[in-house]
Amino acid sequence: MAGNWKMNKTSEEARSFLGDFKLFVKDARDCDIVICAPFTLLPLLKKELENTNIKVGAQNIFYEDSGAYTGEVSALMVKEFCSYVIIGHSERRKYFNETNEIVNKKVKKALERGLKVIFCLGETLEEREKGITKQIVETQLREGLSKTTIENIVIAYEPVWAIGTGKTATPAQAEEVHIFLRELLRQLYNQEIADSTRIIYGGSVNQENASAILNMPNIDGCLPGGASLEASSFSNIIKS
Ligand code: PEP
Repeated sequence: MAGNWKMNKTSEEARSFLGDFKLFVKDARDCDIVICAPFTLLPLLKKELENTNIKVGAQNIFYEDSGAYTGEVSALMVKEFCSYVIIGHSERRKYFNETNEIVNKKVKKALERGLKVIFCLGETLEEREKGITKQIVETQLREGLSKTTIENIVIAYEPVWAIGTGKTATPAQAEEVHIFLRELLRQLYNQEIADSTRIIYGGSVNQENASAILNMPNIDGCLPGGASLEASSFSNIIKS
């Protein structure tokens, strides 16, 4: 259960969220909880969440360890504060022109530096309407995870048309793609990897629709964006 805060929250807002959130989810021991926060909040989250059941994640990294890359932050740097990183989010693909090749370099670097990767993929509305959803997610998975190991990767299926739009994929639509991705993992790796890899769903998940989505057999968790910004709604999603 990973919350993506995107470009939201000052330290004061984060502190106030955490005060409530830690209490709301303190008994949720049967799932992994991650908050993926902006870089500026990672030291604060690390400190506030030490010895709790909540882990910290970043939302991006660059694929080099250091150097003349103004404005970028490396895996080595975020590793000081967190254990997860989101890579390949559709907003990075769309606004920052991240291709499957760039995403692949980032995944490799994150794994090399010991981070767990929440690897995002998903089709646009146009691609869904053309009937090429499976082709698109297959290419994203094959190219994004080319020559990487799979053990520390969580796959997040996030249809682009459902992100931040209030339109959620129906549980059946999401399940269909999750089944397809699991079968692809079986072909690319083996049955054990296909069964044990977590495939989570993201796209306008909220406290009302979460349990129907999470009830699907191939949906192992979710990645809410907007709904993770409020301690009560994120914790209600986790409880469902
Ligand atoms: C996301 O940030 O990955 C996301 C799915 O956002 P939202 O829940 O706001 O659609």
